[in-house]
Amino acid sequence: MGNAEEHRPYGRLRNLAQGLTPVAMTASSVSFERDRELRIARLRAAARDALTERRRPSRAKMRALRVAPGGRIEWRSAPAPPPPGPREAIVHPIAVATCDLDRAIMLGRTPFPMPFHYGHESIAEVVQVGAEVERVKVGERVVVPFQINCGECAACRAGLTGNCLAVPPLSMYGFGVAGGHWGGHVADLFKVPFADAMLVTLPEGIDPAAAVSVSDNVCDGHRHVAPHLPAILERDPGATVLILAAQTRDLPFGASLPLYCGQIALALGAGRVVLVDARPPVRLRAIELGLEAIPPSELRGLDPAPLVVETSTAPAGLRRGLELTAPDGVCTSAGGLHGSAKIPYGLMFGRNATLKVGRSHARAEVPAVLDLIASGRIAPEQVNSHLGSIDDAPRALRDHAEGNAIKTVLLES
Ligand SMILES: [Zn+2]
Ligand SMILES: [Zn+2]
Repeated sequence: MGNAEEHRPYGRLRNLAQGLTPVAMTASSVSFERDRELRIARLRAAARDALTERRRPSRAKMRALRVAPGGRIEWRSAPAPPPPGPREAIVHPIAVATCDLDRAIMLGRTPFPMPFHYGHESIAEVVQVGAEVERVKVGERVVVPFQINCGECAACRAGLTGNCLAVPPLSMYGFGVAGGHWGGHVADLFKVPFADAMLVTLPEGIDPAAAVSVSDNVCDGHRHVAPHLPAILERDPGATVLILAAQTRDLPFGASLPLYCGQIALALGAGRVVLVDARPPVRLRAIELGLEAIPPSELRGLDPAPLVVETSTAPAGLRRGLELTAPDGVCTSAGGLHGSAKIPYGLMFGRNATLKVGRSHARAEVPAVLDLIASGRIAPEQVNSHLGSIDDAPRALRDHAEGNAIKTVLLES
């Protein structure tokens, strides 16, 4: 299943330089704009954990997958999580998947300081729960959202779970200290701080390999389409959904998000879904899923569409997406690792176009996404391009990083 080598990891210095880019500055200022003390306490805990690992070799150990600059991906011994606090759970992943951002992370092309414990998409089995956990039961299979959220604050109650007020901004698994030091999903065990709020039971009959990316990418696809499409179809039942993905073949991001967006748009009644992607294997997969697919060179022939999902991660792609947004239409952008981008202000004003940029509120999307899977209306497993075993994660993820896999899913063997 080896891939031809397509992407080369950045070395330590080039990786370090990513931490000095404008977007890195923006991200760190966002992560400190609220609950500074909490954030600093978590940074201290990260440093303390690293020391403890050396000083207390007697503490129970487990495997955790670590990514380091230079494309180094390996199992390392790490302290096992202590017994859960009152609202916490300890879980054991039975399926893990790559997020579209993970290739860039593993290649060292993101500003997140490395090394860190990897992974933020998984289905897990609950191993242990704290005294106040009521809903989640030991032995259950659960979806673990990638963002940390409490379920009780004003933001969580409003469904804005990606901006939970009980934890520092941008709190998430699998991004090391940049995400607030919550560990990674590719480990023998990891802790879920708010078990009843975060974990969602995997319905009977849904294969973990089908639902593993509900943690992040499938929910991300849902939030780009579901809030906008019904009103658009009411005005124009034949409306086209345009999904703008990679503008160049060498883009170091996965391609599952644009494909999930396409699946969800079809499931919610779009008559025509067009995916624009420079990568031939992605276009091929899109066609197999019932989408139309064209390379960016054919964009000129397209009419503006009332819903444009912009997943190019590039300022030029965002601009194209906005130029292709029809009057009273919506362009929803998955964002990217750029500090700023130019937008066609006058054109948007003239057409009355709306631009939505931001992160998803993953936990809030999970029930609707699981309903779509359980009722057979979407089959996310059709997006999986590479399957392997969790034990073999270092090799499988190196292949993913350096090759062109769309989505790599690893299962417990
Ligand atoms: Zn992700
Ligand atoms: Zn909250």
